[in-house]
Amino acid sequence: MSNKTILIDLDGVLNNYTGNYNKEIIPEIKTGAADFLRKLSKNYNIKLFTVRNKNQTQKWLNENNIAEYFCDITDIKEPAWVYIDDRCIKFEGNYETLENQINSFKAWYK
Ligand SMILES: [Mg+2]
Repeated sequence: MSNKTILIDLDGVLNNYTGNYNKEIIPEIKTGAADFLRKLSKNYNIKLFTVRNKNQTQKWLNENNIAEYFCDITDIKEPAWVYIDDRCIKFEGNYETLENQINSFKAWYK
C-alpha cells in the first residue's frame, strides 16, 4: 500500500450525475466505478471529496458495496497526490492557456 492519497469527487465521477444537482438524491453508481475503486484502493488511500451530507453519502457507499475502498469522506481540499474531478482543469503553468481552457471547458457528460 502506497501512502499516497487520492481525493476523488462523487458527482459526475463515481455516479451518473449529469449536471442537475439535487441534494436529496445521489444518482446511481456509474458502471465500472466499483471495479475501478477496488483496483485503485490496493495502491492508494482514497478519500471521497463531496459537499453532500456525510451520512447520506456513507449510506450510498454502503448500499453500493464500495464503502470499504474509502478511508474518509471530506468536503475539505486536503493534501493529496492527485485530485479527480469532472469539473477540473489541469494548470500547466501558463495563464493564457488556462483562460482558453476555462472558456472552452465542457464536462464529459455534456
Ligand atoms: Mg463533480
